[in-house]
Amino acid sequence: MNDDFDPEWGTATRGVRAANLRSVEGEHSSAIHMTSSFVFDSAEACAARFGGESPGNIYSRFTNPTVDAFSRRLAAMEGGQSCVATASGMSAILATCLATLESGDHIVAAHTLFGSTIGLFNNYLGKLGISTSYVSPEDLEGWKAAITPATRMLFVETPSNPLTEVVDLAALADLANANDALLVVDNCFCTPALQRPLDFGAHVVTHSATKFLDGQGRALGGAVVGDEDIVGDRVFRFLRTCGPTMSPFNAWIFYKALETLEVRMRAHCISAQRVAEWLSEQPGVEHVYYPGLASHAQHDLARRQQPGGFGGILSLRLSGGRAAAFKLINATRMLSITANLGDTRTTIVHPASTTHARISEADRARAGITEGVVRVSVGLENVDDIIADLARGLE
Ligand SMILES: *Cc1c(COP(=O)(O)O)cnc(C)c1O
Repeated sequence: MNDDFDPEWGTATRGVRAANLRSVEGEHSSAIHMTSSFVFDSAEACAARFGGESPGNIYSRFTNPTVDAFSRRLAAMEGGQSCVATASGMSAILATCLATLESGDHIVAAHTLFGSTIGLFNNYLGKLGISTSYVSPEDLEGWKAAITPATRMLFVETPSNPLTEVVDLAALADLANANDALLVVDNCFCTPALQRPLDFGAHVVTHSATKFLDGQGRALGGAVVGDEDIVGDRVFRFLRTCGPTMSPFNAWIFYKALETLEVRMRAHCISAQRVAEWLSEQPGVEHVYYPGLASHAQHDLARRQQPGGFGGILSLRLSGGRAAAFKLINATRMLSITANLGDTRTTIVHPASTTHARISEADRARAGITEGVVRVSVGLENVDDIIADLARGLE
């Protein structure tokens, strides 16, 4: 599948050049193949295509050239054999689970996962007889203790949301292999520009393309990357039959956005580092959670595992609890108050009352998501303007 890029190319070059899609018109920027179906010259040609004897497109729920170009480009960047594109990040996770798990199987997952992922596991996989246990992301002994003979999947995001705990992917991959389970990594926070989980032994990477892959807040999409036998075969067949596929228009947006992914992520990292260092010195700020700070508990691991950078997302804990957190958020004039992340625009949110509100207070306390925690997804504005906006609420 990856015959359309030079394996010597780095991630940025792959983002710009891999899976080049060009029609007979010779356009430099790729066209969008907005079509639901494809036509044939004869009944024989049609039958051969349906019978699998001649390769090619039939119907865009199965394959589409623009969606395929996005998938191949992202596979090249993640270093995976195969990639399938989905309608959203959630459908990427759903497709991965339904394609690889059976009733009676068990998942071990980090308790800090994206809220809808926990909802998918508990409410929808749960009623199919697929159960999930939750553990602290950075506690390897906890992962080991939670594994049962039925465990077939370990699921994690790293760095975690909102406290940026970094999970040792190579150690989790060893654990997965020793237990005949798949390690699935939601690489939404880092993207392949910063971290390539497959290099550390992960079996499957999922994405919400909605976040940094687009990076401009325009479209919903997702992707699953991994080996041909899992992703190219099983996940692809699930999608082809069940239908949460990506629209060609959205695929074109993401395909073009991958061309600037590396340079955008580098800029997010540089600004996030500056904001994290500045916040660390402000009165009323008890703690700053950012893997790029030497004070971060897994700073060295993050350096090894995220060679592209420490990411665009940080959290801070204010000594004044919820009142101080709300004051900081309400004092901003430029930052966007929203739970979304991975945008050109800096966003700010209070996790305990929004993204993590449905978790019980005891679980939140155990996870360290206290009332004084505020999460910032650092955007691409001038960093001095971001700092000035945050300074208003800390005075
Ligand atoms: C947003 C998000 C998702 C879900 O993606 P959608 O595109 O909104 O369906 C999954 N995982 C993480 C970490 C996210 O931030």
